[in-house]
Amino acid sequence: MLLENKVCVITGAASPRGIGRNTAELFHQHGAYVAILDLNQAQSEEAAKAVGERAFGVACDVTDKASCDKAVAAVLEKFGRIDVLVNNAGITQPLKTLEITPENYEQVTDVSLRGMLYMSQAVLPQMVSQNGGAIINTSSVSAQRGGGIFGGPHYSAAKAGMLGLGKAMAREFGVHNIRINSVTPGLILTDITGGKLTPEMKEKILTTIPLNRLGAAEDVSKAFLFLASDLSDYITGATLDVNGGMHIY
Ligand code: NAD
Repeated sequence: MLLENKVCVITGAASPRGIGRNTAELFHQHGAYVAILDLNQAQSEEAAKAVGERAFGVACDVTDKASCDKAVAAVLEKFGRIDVLVNNAGITQPLKTLEITPENYEQVTDVSLRGMLYMSQAVLPQMVSQNGGAIINTSSVSAQRGGGIFGGPHYSAAKAGMLGLGKAMAREFGVHNIRINSVTPGLILTDITGGKLTPEMKEKILTTIPLNRLGAAEDVSKAFLFLASDLSDYITGATLDVNGGMHIY
């Protein structure tokens, strides 16, 4: 039990095959109280019901500051504290530079980067008052190698922005015993690609992965568990690669 009685908030955690949902399940197995935040109230509640008795579903659009504040207030009312935030909500689009419209740019950067800022702003005062907490940000190998897997350049930019924001926040909040780290997953088999990742694309990507398999949601949630728990209590401002060796530098 690595998270006994810890209150953990996970954004984008309703998607049944997603990294967030898997994280909610793993954290719950480790004794945590889990708040599942996602766009739709009914789906968030349904996910919470499937995860277990210490899970709570709340609607939250991370691109909307008022929505983040409202969801965090609901979690505090329900559980009374917040120990961990996993900024996991994200969307992607397989576009080339010249195809990115202003709307595409906003959609992708808003969910990952603006959402990370708004959700962190919503939980940090509580973590400061508790003198402790952990925030984990879901970036991507795309931030490090300049895409080339599925998401377009605006996705790489959003995910790279998350690394910079996370490091700066880690520097600022270390004094309050709040650790802020990022994870950079490689290709993980979830529904984020909306069925647009063809078997040929998967085959080609596989040839670039030393561990010779595509990633599973639990590969990432286990890294989140490490960064959320006391096992990593002297680690902040770090980036943890979970990519099967796809990007070694
Ligand atoms: P997913 O599509 O299964 O889950 C993403 C979730 O985010 C969904 O439940 C969706 O409803 C939610 N979401 C979208 N916009 C939101 C918003 N505005 N507010 C709140 N929730 C919102 O995808 P996934 O693959 O599990 O992705 C999880 C995270 O991992 C994302 O940030 C993604 O960019 C990142 N990531 C995924 C991969 C991969 O290969 N799957 C690789 C690297 C990074």
